[in-house]
Amino acid sequence: MNVDRDRLREDLEANAEFGEIETDEGRGRTVLTGTEANREAREYLVARLEDAGLDVRIDAVGNVAGRWTPESADPETAPVAAGSHLDSVPEGGIFDGPLGVYSALEAVRTMQDAGVEPERPVEVVSFTEEEGQRFASGLLGSSVAVGERSVERALALEADDGTTLESALDAMGFRGEGRIDASEWDSWLELHVEQSERLTDAGVPVGVVTAITGITHCEATVRGEADHAGATPMGDRTDALAAASEFVLDVERAANEVVTSASDTAVGTVGSLDVRPNATNVVPGEVEAGVDVRDVDRDAMEELVRRARRSLARLERERGVETEFRRPFDLAPTPMSDRVRAAAHDAGEAAGIETLDLHSGAAHDTMHVAGVTDAGLLFAPSREGISHNPKEWTDWDDCATATRVLAGALADLAGA
Ligand SMILES: [Zn+2]
Repeated sequence: MNVDRDRLREDLEANAEFGEIETDEGRGRTVLTGTEANREAREYLVARLEDAGLDVRIDAVGNVAGRWTPESADPETAPVAAGSHLDSVPEGGIFDGPLGVYSALEAVRTMQDAGVEPERPVEVVSFTEEEGQRFASGLLGSSVAVGERSVERALALEADDGTTLESALDAMGFRGEGRIDASEWDSWLELHVEQSERLTDAGVPVGVVTAITGITHCEATVRGEADHAGATPMGDRTDALAAASEFVLDVERAANEVVTSASDTAVGTVGSLDVRPNATNVVPGEVEAGVDVRDVDRDAMEELVRRARRSLARLERERGVETEFRRPFDLAPTPMSDRVRAAAHDAGEAAGIETLDLHSGAAHDTMHVAGVTDAGLLFAPSREGISHNPKEWTDWDDCATATRVLAGALADLAGA
């Protein structure tokens, strides 16, 4: 099988023109759900899917799927699906999302050109609003495809300007019918840019993700007593910020220790501090700290959360502050399917392309899909690890190499 690098590049460059922004360096685009740029990107995709002879279906929340059912396949068997998303963050790059959609299409065309005869249909999918910039907080289309959010609730989602997803899809002509149901797929694969530098560092062109990180967000409140910074002697203070500073260092220390003792992929960050009253001449009375904990190992995540709580208990004892701890957001790590990972490694080996096991520190639609069917995620190298930025770049050769592995894995999974 030979991937047509220039055909893939043409599609990605055509897609890059929709929502293109002026930039001094690199190539950027802004494609938010329901905008003119989004309509153009969707229409171009549909045309390209149809050019390749795929049957295109748009569901009620604007998810797009093109199905290839070759003579060799039983149309009644569960298809193998692959894809990603076409929306972007504001002033994002041209690969995050589109690479996954157009590599899936190129994989199908590659199989067609090579006369591959799969037993199952192969589906190319583009999910609505993965980046969560307008209607939801992220992974919108896939949340409906896996049944986590109903079509009705999704359509009622409102943007800041009061536009509903339903009216935005109507305006673009992309509110279809029914629901693309990911649980009906035999398996799923997404190719995405790595967004870090592990592949480049290792000199390996394709990553096979072992698990997508779990994420938990915690909020810690530290309450002391606001007082005059000049008139309050050092011995009479309950300084909330001084105590919160120890909390920040405790979280960092705990993460470093968990990395050496339990899981080297664990990370813990106090990313925000809200200080009240936040005045130079006032002893801080209250601090709100935002904690982000991630890992592919659930136990390591729990250990970090426990250590954060323990730090607060110590500060209550030693510094006389009052504390509160909340955990408003928690998402468990998502392991990728062994079967799909094996198909990816085998495809790399058969094509003489080296592959590397690594984890994903960012969320992707695949996270949802993995809840309802066997799912896998491939990474292509990101130059300097940069993404969500016009400087995001993956060399065209690397795009083609990763697509070759994708095509091989899809052919394998589809029983070719
Ligand atoms: Zn993405």
